[in-house]
Amino acid sequence: MTDQHLVEALARDNAAEDAGMHGDDRTTCWTHQCWASDCADDPMHTNPSALR
Ligand SMILES: [Zn+2]
Repeated sequence: MTDQHLVEALARDNAAEDAGMHGDDRTTCWTHQCWASDCADDPMHTNPSALR
């Protein structure tokens, strides 16, 4: 699910992170292309080793 507001927020977070913002301060998730709060419980975030 993608809406224009989310697309803009993703771009804003990417720019902020490039400028030095900590990844934890993102309001969106680049990996899932969604709001960070929508995927905070995803195993990838709660257990990063699940990536491998
Ligand atoms: Zn995510």
